[in-house]
Amino acid sequence: MATGAKVFVIAEHRDGRLKKSTFELLGASSAAGNETHAILLGDGVAEMAKELGHYGAAKVHLVQNAALKHYTSEAYSKAIIPILQSGGAEVVLASHTPTGRDLMPRIAARMNVGLASDCTQLSFDGGKIKVRRPVYAGKATCEVEFLGSGPQMATVRANALGIPKPDTGKSAEVIQANADLGDLKTKVLDLAKGSSARPDVTEASIVISGGRAMKNAENFKILEEMADVLGAAVGASRAAVDAGFRPHRDQVGQTGKVVSPSLYIACGISGAIQHLAGMRTSKCIVAVNTDGEAPIFQVADYGVVSDLFTLVPLLKDEFKKVKDH
Ligand SMILES: Cc1cc2nc3c(=O)[nH]c(=O)nc-3n(C[C@H](O)[C@H](O)[C@H](O)COP(=O)(O)OP(=O)(O)OC[C@H]3O[C@@H](n4cnc5c(N)ncnc54)[C@H](O)[C@@H]3O)c2cc1C
Repeated sequence: MATGAKVFVIAEHRDGRLKKSTFELLGASSAAGNETHAILLGDGVAEMAKELGHYGAAKVHLVQNAALKHYTSEAYSKAIIPILQSGGAEVVLASHTPTGRDLMPRIAARMNVGLASDCTQLSFDGGKIKVRRPVYAGKATCEVEFLGSGPQMATVRANALGIPKPDTGKSAEVIQANADLGDLKTKVLDLAKGSSARPDVTEASIVISGGRAMKNAENFKILEEMADVLGAAVGASRAAVDAGFRPHRDQVGQTGKVVSPSLYIACGISGAIQHLAGMRTSKCIVAVNTDGEAPIFQVADYGVVSDLFTLVPLLKDEFKKVKDH
C-alpha cells in the first residue's frame, strides 16, 4: 500500500485569526493519511499553532520575526524555502488567496519547480498529487500531474475542499525555526484596511451579487440587508463595478475575484462568460433575472424570473423568519 506524502501547508492568518481556507488544506491532507506540516509565520502568532493541530497538522514550523508581522513575498519566501528544503517537502499547498497567488509563484520559481494554481480538486496517491483546475475562463477543467523531482506545488481555491471538523484532542508538535531574512528590499509601513465589516467574497460561504440591474450604489442596500441576515458577502458584476456602484474588490469574475461559496445568489446579472468564470464552481447557484432567456439560468441550480426589487425584500423576510426560529 502506498504511504502518504510529506505535505507542507502554508498557514494564512489575518487579525489574529487563521483563515478557514488553511483548515481546508490541512483537513484534506491529513484525511488522506499524509504527514501534514503547517508553516506559520508572523510576529506573536505562537498561539495559533494549537488550532492548526486541531485541524490536522502533525507538526507546525513556527517562525516569528518582526519583519514577518505583515506579509511580503520577499520575507515570506526567504523564511519558507529553507523549511521546505530541510523538511524534504513533497507537496506544498497554499490557499488561492491574494497572498497565496503572490507568494507561491515566487517560491516555485526559486525552487525551480512547477505550480498548479487555482485548483478546485485535489487527490493524493502515495507521494504524488493530482489536481483539477479550471481553464478557458472556467469553460473546461483539466487534470494536472507533476513530472520530475522537487516539491509539487499547488494553490487551492477557498471553499473547494470543505472545512473539516476540528478535533481539540489533537495537537501538533511545534518546531521553532529561525529565519535568516538577510537584507530585505521591501518593508510594509502601513496597512490601510477596507471599511467593510462583511466577509470578503472569496472567503464567505454565501455570496450575494448584484449586476447592472441594481441601477445605482444605493440600491445595493437591499442586497446588504439580505447579506446581514445570512452572514453573507456582497459581490458585483463588472458592469456594476464599472458604473461605480461597488468597489473593485467586490467584483466577481475573470478580471475580478474567483469565488466558490456554498450558495451564490446572482441578482440582475446576465451571466456573461467572464462573470461565470468567477463563480461557476459555487456549490449552489440561485439566479434572479427578469429575462427568462438570460444565460445565467444555464448554470443556475434555482432560477427565479422576477424583478429583483420585488423578490429580494421578500426573500430577506423569509430568511429572517427561518433564522429567528
Ligand atoms: C476582458 C473582459 C473581462 C471581463 N471581466 C469581467 C468580470 O470579471 N466580471 C464580470 O462580471 N464581467 C466581466 N466582464 C464583462 C462581461 O462581459 C459583462 O459585460 C458583465 O458581466 C455584464 O454585467 P451584468 O450581468 O451586471 O450586466 P448585463 O449584462 O447588462 O445584465 C443585466 C441583467 O439584469 C437583468 N435585469 C434587468 N433589470 C432587472 C430587474 N429589475 N430584476 C432582475 N433582473 C433584471 C437583465 O435581464 C440582464 O440579464 C468582462 C469583459 C471582458 C471583455
